[in-house]
Amino acid sequence: MTTSPESKRKSVQELADARLAPEYRQAVKTLEAAMAAIGWPFVDRPICCGEPVEISGFIGSCYKAVCHKCDRFIFDVTGPEFDKGCVTVPDGDIYDMGTEVRWVSGQRGVQPADARS
Ligand SMILES: [Zn+2]
Repeated sequence: MTTSPESKRKSVQELADARLAPEYRQAVKTLEAAMAAIGWPFVDRPICCGEPVEISGFIGSCYKAVCHKCDRFIFDVTGPEFDKGCVTVPDGDIYDMGTEVRWVSGQRGVQPADARS
């Protein structure tokens, strides 16, 4: 922990922990590392279970990808949240989002290998 003024904003890790269910909490990763953690190749549209994964985008950038067969997913913790027809995006004044290390991944029903308690 540093005490420099820039560190007043919360980290993307804190954002991830706030958004993820306890069983999926893990260290945030780069996109490449998050994909590798669930065995996906680092390509634009990976094939999983024999089919391209479903990619969700918002304003031109991908924030989520899911395989509906095995329930593996990657998720940008700084991405938008859809709730009852309303979209919210995490506030850049609260969270320090200028980082590429903002992805989490996993498989529904399976604890991530690096799950934090
Ligand atoms: Zn799959």
